[in-house]
Amino acid sequence: MNGITVLRWTLTFLLLILAWTGMAYGIHRLAHHSGRWNLLNRLHRAHHHPDYLNHQRSFRWHHFLLCFGSLEETLDVWITLTLPALLLSCLVPSHAPLMLGFHYLYEIFLSDDRLDHNPSLRGGVTRWFAWGQYHLEHHRQPTKHFGLILTFWDVIFMSGPASNAVTTTAAQGSCRFTPAAHHRR
Ligand SMILES: [Zn+2]
Ligand SMILES: [Zn+2]
Repeated sequence: MNGITVLRWTLTFLLLILAWTGMAYGIHRLAHHSGRWNLLNRLHRAHHHPDYLNHQRSFRWHHFLLCFGSLEETLDVWITLTLPALLLSCLVPSHAPLMLGFHYLYEIFLSDDRLDHNPSLRGGVTRWFAWGQYHLEHHRQPTKHFGLILTFWDVIFMSGPASNAVTTTAAQGSCRFTPAAHHRR
């Protein structure tokens, strides 16, 4: 493998990560629109239940099967992250093992209270990654910070920290999940 090939392979992977997190962003944002027929909204409510951040979710064997606390939580992850990863893997099979492997390992070992809901993560790292206080802000104000893993798409679609506009707009047509009252830790 020469330098150009490595560079092209790496750039392709980075573009895939951007595409993947972009699709996840769109699905997550769609999940915040209330509506009788919006299955995504029903599934995602479990993630925004006031108790979600309070109960301990210690590691279980079924996490290796990408099965989490409840059917709703599991389907929420599958539809928002696993499905886009599978679609992109079909489009770019050369990167499928890394793409799917990254998603699998991240979801089992790094998400939840390690990165996503870790309140001690703040500052510079949360400018780039939707971890810690950045994502917890989404639980406090579910009309912003829809980005998963990366903050990039919140910046592009102006749903990041400095966006009052999207907060107002989204609040008009979206469901309002009950903000979490307490956080673990
Ligand atoms: Zn969360
Ligand atoms: Zn949400």
